[in-house]
Amino acid sequence: MENRTIAITRTFDDIEAATHRAIASIGGMQSVMQGGRNALLKPNFVAGRNATTGSTTHFAIIKAVAEEVRACGAKPFLCEIPGTEFDCEATYTLLGLEQFCQDNHISLLRLDPEGGAEDWIEIQATGARVLRQFRVPRLLHDQGTRLINLPVLKTHVVSIMSLSMKNLMGILPRPERRTMHTFGIDQCIVDMNFGIQPDLTIVDGCVGQDGDGPLYGDCADLQVLVAGRNNLAVDLVCCQLVGVKPRSVPHLKLALAQMGKPDWQVVGEEMSILKQFILPQKKSLYRSIFWSMFLLDYPYSWLAERGKHLCTTIYNSGLVGTRPQINQERCTRCGTCVETCPLPNVIDLQILKINYQSCQRCLLCYEQCPEHAISVKGYSGART
Ligand code: SF4
Ligand code: SF4
Repeated sequence: MENRTIAITRTFDDIEAATHRAIASIGGMQSVMQGGRNALLKPNFVAGRNATTGSTTHFAIIKAVAEEVRACGAKPFLCEIPGTEFDCEATYTLLGLEQFCQDNHISLLRLDPEGGAEDWIEIQATGARVLRQFRVPRLLHDQGTRLINLPVLKTHVVSIMSLSMKNLMGILPRPERRTMHTFGIDQCIVDMNFGIQPDLTIVDGCVGQDGDGPLYGDCADLQVLVAGRNNLAVDLVCCQLVGVKPRSVPHLKLALAQMGKPDWQVVGEEMSILKQFILPQKKSLYRSIFWSMFLLDYPYSWLAERGKHLCTTIYNSGLVGTRPQINQERCTRCGTCVETCPLPNVIDLQILKINYQSCQRCLLCYEQCPEHAISVKGYSGART
């Protein structure tokens, strides 16, 4: 029988302890693993901004989940292909993922982001309308693998909310993600969820983000986790917690119409609005530019070297996107930004310029500059 339980747990005391509580409340990890040998953990590491910004999944949640997986005699794997405009390895470096995985006995799955046949396998999505077949990691296709979805509770400038259903995009290769952006992101998110159903979802609302999420919105400081088995039900509960009408989120509206409203039963904390979320401003120009970058990527990638995408090239030009910029009048050349930047040779203090070919827009330099000599440019995160 389907487990309809949704657990709401606050993280005030300790995030790891709260994660263990949430897992126990939905029936325990044994009931999720059911003898499976592997667990594929899918966090939200869309870019290299750490969890205190509300952009990415908190390591404490992943650590607790991995412990529970191992206690069931199974092996935890972590898999995430960051957003197309970001470099995979640089994102892992910014987040310190390699070390974290090593310390916690988690295997970091490094897959070919372009969908090479050795790493990926195509599946059919019964009930899908646009994205009828797509590739997923080969490991996920193994009968002994369980999928544990670990999204972040935040807004999204393109899809309004980024919750459980949308988070699965990060285990699709980049060509599929281009298809989704080009042919209707909202329907494609629903289609993707017809094809992949996680065995467990725990939404990270330790911080969360509203306004212009998913990367440069406002920290929401929700201090909550929401766990369950059904992605749509989990997302509907998350919306209630932040005062968002599900039908104002286009992919949830489509999911309700095409999948039907699921039943659920909440355990744990009482359901009340934790914070009234401010949704992203409608930036039609930004959305049109973003959409056309994916459309034009088809001819671009036929001509360019494998692995190069138009949106990466445009972002790397330093002309668009959220990006730091040094104010030459204010800068004292103290060197703090260079020490803070986790990537090598990005900031040149001789000429006071940032190399946008390698900068991954984490904004740590902006946050640490003692002279406030770094400003942030760009459409989203309009801090200047
Ligand atoms: S931290 Fe600020 S003041 Fe110091 S070198 Fe960098 S930009 Fe200049
Ligand atoms: S230059 Fe600043 S924004 Fe760019 S990667 Fe380094 S710390 Fe992050």
